Order: sequence, then structure tokens, then C-alpha cells
Amino acid sequence: MKIVVLSTNPKLYSTRRLIEAGKARDHEMLILNHRRCYMNITSMRPSIHYRGEAVTGVDAIIPRIGASVSFYGAAVVRQFEMMGVYSVNESVAITRSRDKLRSSQLLSRKGIGLPVTGFANSPDDTEDLLNFVGGAPVVIKLLEGTQGVGVVLGETRQAAESVIEAFRGLGANFMVQEFIKEAGGSDLRCFVVGDKVVAAMMRSGKEGEFRSNLHRGGSAELVRITPEERSTAVRSAKIMGLNVAGVDLLRSNHGPVVMEVNSSPGLEGIEGATGKDVAGIIIQFIEKNARPGRTQSRGKG
Ligand code: ADP
Repeated sequence: MKIVVLSTNPKLYSTRRLIEAGKARDHEMLILNHRRCYMNITSMRPSIHYRGEAVTGVDAIIPRIGASVSFYGAAVVRQFEMMGVYSVNESVAITRSRDKLRSSQLLSRKGIGLPVTGFANSPDDTEDLLNFVGGAPVVIKLLEGTQGVGVVLGETRQAAESVIEAFRGLGANFMVQEFIKEAGGSDLRCFVVGDKVVAAMMRSGKEGEFRSNLHRGGSAELVRITPEERSTAVRSAKIMGLNVAGVDLLRSNHGPVVMEVNSSPGLEGIEGATGKDVAGIIIQFIEKNARPGRTQSRGKG
């Protein structure tokens, strides 16, 4: 098969591993920088061009779209879908999962455990918002944040109110969330491919840090997850419509709660902590499922 990895950086571990795993299974592997893909959407025959040439004969794409190029990246994925190319994660699902608020709404509708979360637009409602998530301490999150940036712990009501005021002053969208103290600064990253959790790790923040992001100095180790955690992760990926997803869970007193469903989960941490060939598993999934025109949503939201 001819498989394209959409990535802005060929040097990234995840990109390199996917290329390596595909080649090891005799596929023709190609990296295209989605920022450099341009499209002809005027005719009945949609096409994608790259450095002066039309991109043709592609059987499948693996989008690795960073948060900073979500909008354009999703358009490139959608264009491939229009051309009948199989995408392991579809554009609609990627866009859906990028919006933390939209994701929470969709997951809550299906009964997935979530931290109690509040969202409001008007500054007049701050008090009630803090009340319904149970008062301080609370976690305040920028909707556009990634890798732990813009995730703040308001330990007292006064601190929480100041942070909310500051975010509002900047015109930023944010949500207020119940603080899951019992998670003890750790979370679970469940790597889902298809309808299975193929690898799972526990990430723990460095001393004194409630955020467990590896980018913030956290560490990762192999973990055994419970059947309930497993099914929560698989169902969450399915609700978002993602075939490949990193589902982040917190172990709360009321069972697993989902914090985020990531559509371009990194491979370095999970392969390092578990010793599993996750890249190979993704390629095998594509071998089984990629068919021309096999696009569920056809780019429609
Ligand atoms: P990002 O997408 O920026 O990584 P997250 O929502 O995943 O933001 O939060 C970053 C980290 O902060 C999580 O991995 C988790 O360890 C911690 N965290 C986030 N929300 C909560 C919460 N409600 N209760 C306890 N810890 C949390």
C-alpha cells in the first residue's frame, strides 16, 4: 500500500516510527507536510498538490495534525477523504476532539464519566459556576490549551476567582472543573487502536505538580488498567469517531473520568513505557481497514 503520514516534522519520533513500521511491513511510506499541501477544490475531481505535483495513488493517510495547524490540517484530511482516500482518523473526528467543550458534551451525553465541568460566558455567573463544580479547589482550563499549558489549580475560591477574572479579561474561553484530588497528580493514557486499548501507561507529575504531562517533567510507567477503564477508553474513542486515540483518564472516587481524547497521540512516551510496537499496530489496523472510499462522514460534520 501507499501510505502517507501527514506531519510537519519528519524528525519527530512518532513520524519516524510510523514510517519505519510501514516500511518493515513492505508498504510505500511517504511523509507530506500538510502545511505545504495545496488543493484544487473547484472541480468535480478534487486533488491535492505538493511541490508542483499532484498527489496520486494513495491508499491511506495517517494524520498527525498538531493543535496549531488544526484548521488547515483538517481541511487537507477532508480533501483526501473527498478523493476517496482512507484516513485512519477522519477530519470530522479530529476537529471534534480538538474542542474540549464539544468533546465533553458528546461524552457526557453517552454517559461517560467526566469530572464535573462548568462553562459560562458571562462574568456575572462565576459564583454559581464555582458552586456547581463543588467550590474550591477547582481546575480552570483554557479551551485552546495543550500539554498542560493553561491548566491552573485554583486552591481557594479567591484564587479561582482571580484566575477566572484574568482569563475573561484576555477574552479566552475556559472551563471550570472539579479537582480530582484522589488522582494524586497521576493520570492514565490509554492508547486505543480500533476497538482495543493496545497500550496503557500511568503518568505522574513531578513533585508538587498536579499536572502529569510528560512535557512538564512528568514520568511514565506501564500500568494494568481495569476492565472499566478499558471500556471507558474504547467507548470514548468510538464516541469521538477516532480509530486511533490517546484517551486520558483520571482515577476518581467515582470511577474513571475522561479528561481528554487526543487524535494525534504521541508514540514516544507510550512505546517507551510499555515496550509495545504501537506504530506497527496502527499499520496493521490500516491493512485491515483501508478501502477506497471508506469514509464514514465524507467530511460532513
Ligand atoms: P492538556 O490537554 O493541556 O494536557 P489536561 O486537561 O489533560 O490538559 O490537563 C493536564 C493535566 O492536569 C492532566 O494530565 C492531569 O494530570 C491534570 N488535571 C487536569 N484536570 C484535572 C482535574 N480535573 N483534576 C485533577 N487533575 C487534573
